[in-house]
Amino acid sequence: MLDILIIGGGPIGLACGLAAQKAGLSFVIVEKGCLVNSLYNYPSTMTFFSTSEKLEIGGVPFVTVHTKPTRADALEYYRRVALSNNLPLNLFEEVTDVKPTDGGYTIVTSKATYRAKKVILSTGFYDIAVNLNIPGEDLPKVKHYYQDPHYYTLQKVVVVGSSNSAIDVALETYRKGAEVTLVVRGPEISPRVKYWVRPDIINRIKEGSIKAYFNSNLAAIRQTEVDIHTPEGKITIPNDFVMAMTGYKPNFDFLAKLGIKLSKDKFIPEYNHETMETNQAGLYLAGVVCGGLDTHLWFIENSRIHADMIIDDIVRKK
Ligand code: FAD
Repeated sequence: MLDILIIGGGPIGLACGLAAQKAGLSFVIVEKGCLVNSLYNYPSTMTFFSTSEKLEIGGVPFVTVHTKPTRADALEYYRRVALSNNLPLNLFEEVTDVKPTDGGYTIVTSKATYRAKKVILSTGFYDIAVNLNIPGEDLPKVKHYYQDPHYYTLQKVVVVGSSNSAIDVALETYRKGAEVTLVVRGPEISPRVKYWVRPDIINRIKEGSIKAYFNSNLAAIRQTEVDIHTPEGKITIPNDFVMAMTGYKPNFDFLAKLGIKLSKDKFIPEYNHETMETNQAGLYLAGVVCGGLDTHLWFIENSRIHADMIIDDIVRKK
């Protein structure tokens, strides 16, 4: 029986693996996609808001020429860390069930069944998009994930949201020749947008290069047009693509299936804030999965410490 099975091969799952390795524990990391799958699926042009040393795991230096690493830098870094430390990684294998069995857990995946004394759930939040729940959302032209701006050249693009992801999409597609309309639920561009990007979008809106509707909601999507509810009433504009950058959420059904209690309002999982152990003994949470619907609460920078907190607790109880 393994000491630990880690679910999720993102930065925090890897950090847990490194901490377990240092403590001499037996473990395996099971990841349903490729290594650091969420980062792999980020926009190809993406730059982290954190400086590289704040994304380091296991004490391995993350050296970059520029202060803020790109997606490519991060893929390079986490791959080198995983491979040079020989982390036991089972990729493209999805964990489908975790059941308490005497003295530990039985973990069922798409490929095998494992036994482990402890389980760490570091499954992130990037797999499930928050839906708009409006007519036409299922049309192929509606995207919740964005890879590259070139695709949208000369297209009429509606971007929904005003978070970092939405603003990056709006600015990048505008700069590659798209006609961009931003639909924002609130009265302004989110104050959480990167401080060096926010003035850029505000000025593009002011000069009319990007059209923005505030206090507004996208109401319906059709093949060649969309309806927007604005404070002045409903408007219809021609449209080719909708980028619904409305956020992502952890897999709450999976957490609930494992018996983890979730808060009623924001589905924040119950766990001990010193040890990261959930209400299920021996089942720990690590990384951004801890935030429930508040997905901005945790990121790599502030959640990489979960790894040592968990492994310290496991070693203490051994
Ligand atoms: P993830 O990286 O999401 O890893 C979870 C892994 O679990 C995934 O690989 C997933 O495939 C796997 N998984 C899920 N379910 C299962 C299952 N059932 N079985 C097996 N595997 C499973 N943070 C910062 O600190 N600084 C930044 O600058 C920054 N910039 C960001 C920019 C963008 C555009 C985004 C979206 C996020 C950014 N973040 C940043 C946040 C941070 O990068 C991510 O949230 C980070 O990936 C969190 O790491 P994690 O290991 O907790 O989760």
